Amino acid sequence: MSEDADVDFDVIVVGAGVAGTVCAHRLARQGHEVLLIDRGAELGSKNLSGGVFYCRVMEQEFPGFAEAAPIERRVTRNCVSFLNESSFVNVDYWDERLARPANAVTVLRARLDAWLAEQCEAEGVTVMPGFRVDGLLTEDGAVVGIRAGDEELRCRVVIAADGVNSFLARSLGMRAPEPHANLAVGVKSVVSLPASVIEERFHLREGEGAAYAIVGDCTQGVAGGGFLYTNEASLSLGVVLRLDDLIASGLSSSDIHDRFLAHPAVEPLVRGGELLEYGCHLTIENGPSMARGELSRPGLLLIGDAAGLTLNTGLTIRGMDLAAGSALAAATVVDKALGEDDVSTASMARYRDELGAGFVGEDLRTYGRAPAFMENPRMYRSYGPLLADVLHGMFDLDLTPRRHLLSVARGALAGSPVRLRDLVRDGMSALRAL
Ligand SMILES: Cc1cc2nc3c(=O)[nH]c(=O)nc-3n(C[C@H](O)[C@H](O)[C@H](O)COP(=O)(O)OP(=O)(O)OC[C@H]3O[C@@H](n4cnc5c(N)ncnc54)[C@H](O)[C@@H]3O)c2cc1C
Repeated sequence: MSEDADVDFDVIVVGAGVAGTVCAHRLARQGHEVLLIDRGAELGSKNLSGGVFYCRVMEQEFPGFAEAAPIERRVTRNCVSFLNESSFVNVDYWDERLARPANAVTVLRARLDAWLAEQCEAEGVTVMPGFRVDGLLTEDGAVVGIRAGDEELRCRVVIAADGVNSFLARSLGMRAPEPHANLAVGVKSVVSLPASVIEERFHLREGEGAAYAIVGDCTQGVAGGGFLYTNEASLSLGVVLRLDDLIASGLSSSDIHDRFLAHPAVEPLVRGGELLEYGCHLTIENGPSMARGELSRPGLLLIGDAAGLTLNTGLTIRGMDLAAGSALAAATVVDKALGEDDVSTASMARYRDELGAGFVGEDLRTYGRAPAFMENPRMYRSYGPLLADVLHGMFDLDLTPRRHLLSVARGALAGSPVRLRDLVRDGMSALRAL
């Protein structure tokens, strides 16, 4: 802890989501005096993710994470589903190697975030739920603390982990209002089902989970997709809709969600379940673009969604693992800065290099083209029906002479708005983007 009598804490972390809790925990382990503050009275109760957490990064901070944390299931079955009005085509991949060591697990944030906050408290972090941070204290261009209601608390570094809307980043002019094309609206339901029904319905063994990424006729033509994940005794499912396209469509996100749940490919999976939770949350559509913005100021770092760190590839949404990765990178930089008693612009700017050198930066570079690829309307509107038409031509045996697959495919292509050159170009773009 700093000897400076004016300083209440070494570090104040604003936001107790995955990013904030992981960062606070690491900083406390490094020996710093840390305050973790969140506006939610019950930590995590309002935080919303689809729920697949690529959790290997958590082992770096919480050894044995998948055994100790309240995870729901280990995902062994990944299914990409192309939905049409009256058909669907699945690419279904099950592999028991995905279970051990745990790779992707399903989580419910209310349980996970509460557990993470408990780990922080056990490590000596002061956890303050139920306090909204209203502003930052600055002196000579450096952030020196926070204001919450009538309270002012001073520190050497503030970590803004306050999520996709980051009020803190906006208050300093580090983030302008985001273009709608960079954001998406997620609408999600949690539906209860007995564990035995889930295992039977989704062909899973005990403790194993399934993750469906769904494209096509699940968003009524709006750019985006659907998801369905199995928890221990419930399903998390819903839609993610690109904000600009949703607004242009004039459709209501909750209507799209309800229609998705009633789709003939989805309804039998949910049948007999009871709605436990329903929520709506903004998420990031174009993380690589957002993360190019400012990430630090003297005495301040942005982490997790506040820094724009979510990767939506259309097949996976990865925000939680990038939140944890950025939290650990930030803690490394802050630890060094506090050790050198230097929280200047140059010292804090090391954070971008630290991020760039780790998996967060690597993955942002690797999937940098994914958002542009997902802007392609053929992904949502044309490829599902085309695939179904090819398969229909193979499996629908009327008494006319059979044709080779190539000529079935040619026939299906001729009846589709997709041209051969689109197919080749989109195939190449998919390989480059994903
Ligand atoms: C529908 C949907 C599906 C998704 N699916 C997945 C998925 O399957 N896998 C995945 O990895 N990611 C997914 N994501 C993205 C993931 O949820 C986020 O990337 C992740 O939650 C970011 O974590 P975070 O800690 O940065 O922010 P958050 O989890 O948003 O936490 C921010 C915290 O800051 C607090 N806060 C905000 N403002 C203040 C303030 N002024 N004062 C005090 N506290 C404040 C909030 O209460 C909150 O607790 C999904 C997102 C959505 C919306």
